[in-house]
Amino acid sequence: TSTPVNVTVTGAAGQIGYALLFRIASGQLLGADVPVRLRLLEIPQAVKAAEGTAMELDDCAFPLLDGVDIFDDATKAFAGTNVALLVGARPRTKGMERGDLLEANGGIFKPQGEAINAGAADDIKVLVVGNPANTNALIAQQHAPDVPAERFTAMTRLDHNRALAQLSKKAGVSVSDIKKMTIWGNHSATQYPDIFHAEIAGKNAAETVNDQSWLENDFIPTVAKRGAAIIEARGASSAASAASAAIDHVHTWVNGTAAGDWTSMAVVSDGSYGVPEGIISSFPVTTSGGKWEIVQGLEIDDFSRARIDASVGELAEEREAVRGLGLI
Ligand code: NDP
Repeated sequence: TSTPVNVTVTGAAGQIGYALLFRIASGQLLGADVPVRLRLLEIPQAVKAAEGTAMELDDCAFPLLDGVDIFDDATKAFAGTNVALLVGARPRTKGMERGDLLEANGGIFKPQGEAINAGAADDIKVLVVGNPANTNALIAQQHAPDVPAERFTAMTRLDHNRALAQLSKKAGVSVSDIKKMTIWGNHSATQYPDIFHAEIAGKNAAETVNDQSWLENDFIPTVAKRGAAIIEARGASSAASAASAAIDHVHTWVNGTAAGDWTSMAVVSDGSYGVPEGIISSFPVTTSGGKWEIVQGLEIDDFSRARIDASVGELAEEREAVRGLGLI
């Protein structure tokens, strides 16, 4: 058997963590023949709960799980790690100003970036799930100057999967018949799910659906506000679907996108599609050999342009805000 891959999960005792760890340990993150060693990071008050989850992981007797270590210290948790899933974050609470939210998360993601810089494995790949995910990823990346910037990504795969699900219902097709879905911008209510380049069974999705009113008044708001709808229905935020999307994100990054398809990932912009360089924004990307590339040459019409610009504008403002706070 091969050497185990070290996977660090922060916020491991949270509800996304609870849905995520068992799937990683069963082999769904990296592949059914790749042993993993889990390194769980929690704040001191939540270490005991993480220990409980580790007991349950033991009790599953997963053949691929080489071991579980629990830390309340970022430097230790990221030492030698190959894949880092940054789930723990400071959620927005009622009445909280954006500056306070960004500052609280700066206090989490700055030291984590430094710890990744100091001790992670050379092939480290980072996925940020904790919100505001794009900007948290930017903060961590800015404090890891020795790690290539492209190794820091944020999750828009749940938005992508939600868009696939909504379109499949509308068109009466299976999700696997849909290719080339795109989420642009920020993982927030301003995100833009784009079906103008998507395909259903090889034909243009927007033309197949041919319903602009559904697109504007139903599809886009349903995808963008799905998180709130889940909270309303479930009484708790989405957790299993977020964990599932995190698994998909890393699995696709490591194992590649299929020919004739792409995925959505928030990655550092090189200026493609007018997105300011350095911002971590969602794009259509292909992956191969553990590397991602932004899909080039898509035509963006005025409708899409306005929506991409709005979401990217929000990201630019968040970057200015964290600069103003001295977090980057
Ligand atoms: P969850 O596990 O439900 O969520 C964790 C983070 O994921 C939140 O920031 C949440 O953002 C975000 N998220 C991103 N996408 C989604 C989505 N689609 N649906 C739901 N959440 C999403 O939070 P819990 O409070 O249950 O657990 C958080 C854990 O993190 C706690 O155990 C806490 O102790 C820990 N923590 C650990 C830290 C560390 O390791 N250093 C630092 C801070 C916290 P949103 O709130 O916007 O939904």
